[in-house]
Amino acid sequence: MTALTAVPAGAAPTDGPTARGQQVEVFAEDGGITRAEVSPASPYLAERPPALAGDGDVTPIVTNGGTDTKLDVVVIGDGYTAGEQEKFRADAAAKWRELSAVEPYATYRGLFNVWAVDAVSAESGVTGDPDRATVRNTALGSYFWCDDIERLLCVDVKAVERYAAKAPQADLVLVVANTAKYGGAGYNDVQSPLGYEGIATVAGGNSRSGQIAVHETGHSLGKLADEYFYDGQGTYQGAEPAESNISTLTADRMRGEHAKWYRWLGRTSPDGGTVGSYTGGGYYPAGLQRPTENSIMRSLGREFNLPGREAMIAGFYRHAATVTSTTRAGSTLDSAGRLTVELPVPGTTLRWYEDGRELVQLRDHTTVPLSSFGFAPAPRGIGHRLTAVATDPTPAVIDPALRPSLTTSLSWWVTG
Ligand SMILES: [Zn+2]
Repeated sequence: MTALTAVPAGAAPTDGPTARGQQVEVFAEDGGITRAEVSPASPYLAERPPALAGDGDVTPIVTNGGTDTKLDVVVIGDGYTAGEQEKFRADAAAKWRELSAVEPYATYRGLFNVWAVDAVSAESGVTGDPDRATVRNTALGSYFWCDDIERLLCVDVKAVERYAAKAPQADLVLVVANTAKYGGAGYNDVQSPLGYEGIATVAGGNSRSGQIAVHETGHSLGKLADEYFYDGQGTYQGAEPAESNISTLTADRMRGEHAKWYRWLGRTSPDGGTVGSYTGGGYYPAGLQRPTENSIMRSLGREFNLPGREAMIAGFYRHAATVTSTTRAGSTLDSAGRLTVELPVPGTTLRWYEDGRELVQLRDHTTVPLSSFGFAPAPRGIGHRLTAVATDPTPAVIDPALRPSLTTSLSWWVTG
């Protein structure tokens, strides 16, 4: 791990013309993660960028459904010239493959749309590649050597916002830089009016950098804390943290108080070992505990642990639905027709209800002929209410407070 100045949680913002620093995470090549505070602006962003053909074009990379029922990932390129936009879209698709190969993304990939936004740069490549003296004029002002750290790939946050706004919806934002040099950054706590909560920057031509985005979505989607810590940070003295994956409690107390990840204690975790209460986490080597020895919230290239996986799935369903249909919910259907719904996640169960009564024979049927319902004459002439209720029964989410988000229902009216 590189020697860095750790910025403690809740550090006072620095004075000066940049007003407020931006918290970012730094990802070393050995998988270690640290933090730094940087300017949200890039010193390498051209003040008046030239108007370049194709700039701001949006291409769907993965389309699974409407933006209101899916989690929309926006990928923006930097350091790609007008002639390199095909390369950008190929790099964007490769990054999505890398990200979606990790669980729980792999199981839940049907919940996502992916949009590529072309940001056309005047020059190819980014500042700081291959060396510190290299400066390039790019659309987002990406640069290595941010905060004097070679692998820290910073970006201009406002420029990212302008391009993200061009996509139909932005729930997650990923900046792919035109470079093969390992690096990236995780911007936590980006409060965007568009609704996304973090930005990950990654090297488009480096096959390990997609892991940076996976870790970063642990914060934005999973609301997870970091499980790494710094020597010399001392002992945490504060109150019980809000995040689900760090705690002041030992395993025994967690069990006794039914707190935090107590339901998972003793289970075998996908990142190795069993879930317990391991000392160190949330930047402190003592006073805070984490669920497993070494999940992706501590080191890149690892799996989420069981509590982390549960939080990620719940996070997916904050943005995406268990059931969708191309037939608009709330519309009135003729009883001579058929109705089809889509269940994007394997194993999802489906039940149909007519005016609140379950039609048991239709369980798990995704296409139903409406004539088979044998509807009685419609009450008060308004038609019958037909409802599809879909539930993801995954055993990976066991907290009763999270389970309701794993059920979605859609209703229509059917006239006799
Ligand atoms: Zn982190």
